[in-house]
Amino acid sequence: MRSHYCGDLRKEHIGEDITLTGWIHRRRDHGGVIFLDLRDREGLTQVVFDPDREESFALADSCRNEFVVEIKGTVRNRPEGTVNSEMPTGEIEVLGKEMVILNKSETPPFQLDEHQQVGEDVRLRNRFIDLRRPEMQEKLRFRSKVSNSIRNFLDDNGFLDIETPILNRATPEGARDYLVPSRVHEGHFFALPQSPQLFKQLLMVAGFDRYYQIAKCFRDEDLRADRQPEFTQIDIETSFMNEEEIMGITEKMIRKLFLELKGVELGEFPRMPYSEAMLRFGSDKPDLRFPMELVDVADLMAEIEFKVFAGPANDPKGRVAALKVPGGAKLTRKIIDEYTKFVGIYGAKGLAWIKVNELEKGAEGLQSPIVKFLGEEVAMAIMTRLGAENGDIIFFGADKEKVVSEALGALRIKVGEDLEMSEAEWAPLWVVDFPMFEETDKGGLTALHHPFTAPSCSPEALKESPLNALSRAYDMVLNGCELGGGSIRIHDQQMQSTVLEILGIDAEEADDKFGFLLDALKYGAPPHGGLAFGLDRLIMLMTGSDSIREVIAFPKTQSASCPLTEAPGEVSAAQLRELNIKLRKTP
Ligand code: ASP
Repeated sequence: MRSHYCGDLRKEHIGEDITLTGWIHRRRDHGGVIFLDLRDREGLTQVVFDPDREESFALADSCRNEFVVEIKGTVRNRPEGTVNSEMPTGEIEVLGKEMVILNKSETPPFQLDEHQQVGEDVRLRNRFIDLRRPEMQEKLRFRSKVSNSIRNFLDDNGFLDIETPILNRATPEGARDYLVPSRVHEGHFFALPQSPQLFKQLLMVAGFDRYYQIAKCFRDEDLRADRQPEFTQIDIETSFMNEEEIMGITEKMIRKLFLELKGVELGEFPRMPYSEAMLRFGSDKPDLRFPMELVDVADLMAEIEFKVFAGPANDPKGRVAALKVPGGAKLTRKIIDEYTKFVGIYGAKGLAWIKVNELEKGAEGLQSPIVKFLGEEVAMAIMTRLGAENGDIIFFGADKEKVVSEALGALRIKVGEDLEMSEAEWAPLWVVDFPMFEETDKGGLTALHHPFTAPSCSPEALKESPLNALSRAYDMVLNGCELGGGSIRIHDQQMQSTVLEILGIDAEEADDKFGFLLDALKYGAPPHGGLAFGLDRLIMLMTGSDSIREVIAFPKTQSASCPLTEAPGEVSAAQLRELNIKLRKTP
């Protein structure tokens, strides 16, 4: 129907007869002349209708916002003084000659021709309108470019795009599964994939060597912060590559992506062992845009009377750490109270602080509710260790290691943001040398990544001291977000059995859950490894969006439902009967 997109018209089209299609973005009546701003996915063009073409003038006059029309006309210069330099098509306009109304529109639930603050529920319920807004069009278009760049890169490097099933047995990524009842196998359920993990490993056993897939994954988690029950991964697996090679090639992919689509050269990504990340930044995904670091001070506190510090300082599982905020002495009581509440989210019972007013006066020059408990000597030793200067504030955490690291780690970012301390726009890194296992609250062990991650030691050493074992896993982190993570996998059946045994999964359960993988490992499984990137989060970061919902066409809400389709919905009694399902409570 159309000859050009609205947004593509420029000076070089002047004099051409063209046909446009699109939506009426805005209609203005200027003393007998009708101006229509016509919109399509490429942008806006101004179309002018004169009263001397009666028929089309009347139609243009009858148009309302969001009507869909086809317009034939001629491109011409805008009259002097009316050029709009803000608009890419602002130098030209179209003199409308013929017009067809292809479809009418009711008044939309919110305006598109000017910015209107609309609640997210209304936006999601009317997503087909919301997605017409230029910023949403831009984000989804950007998303498409990202997938394209990734596909091209992987294709150029010999990766094959292979699909894996959606109806599966449960995959052990550690979250709750979405289940789908089987009609033909009464009482049996499929699980939607939490990731294609086991299938991609089987593809390596099958000899495909380099696999990728832009894969939908499903996890029925309590939706903390910014998660979606279904999300997209760039899933990658390779054979005969070690971790250096896998990190190398995927780092190259991300650097190329940033260069191509954002003109940003990220440079070589630094590597940081997990233990160092936790010590210095209190996080396994440190945000290196902010310079502040956590400093351990337990040894200075071990002998003091003050139990709040001395307790954790003498507890092998405790941690006492300090965070120096340069220039932070100006923070008000009110803000410090807010920070105290904030660290409470991470389980910290309080937030001790010292303002460094006049260091030259010794402890006298320190303003703090805790200096009197520390004593002059300890207080000044802390100042020296932290390199404190007048005008700084120092925050303290003293508790179990996990609480202190998480609380001060999160505070570091919050304060960094509040005081605008960011020193770089992009700060990527690899976090490596993760522990193989961590303790659960119930005292058992769980795999830090997943049970198919290879440890860096022998099965014997692993059994001997599981909590000291490191894994061959790696995470790519950007601006404090985990962009992707993966590992070298176990390709040896004995090692796999040892790991499962340590996790308390006995042979019968292992066989029941992933006997097929254990079988595959018996038949010449090559050394292999890979990783998966979260596509939604990557695009959220690249577009500077506040939430991953902003970069997904049809996202779910925080409570895992879709306001547009009202999914999940009830099903009929007949359907349930067919599936042999009886609800305990009828809704
Ligand atoms: N399957 C893993 C995940 O979804 C990624 C990987 O190890 O490749 O986190």
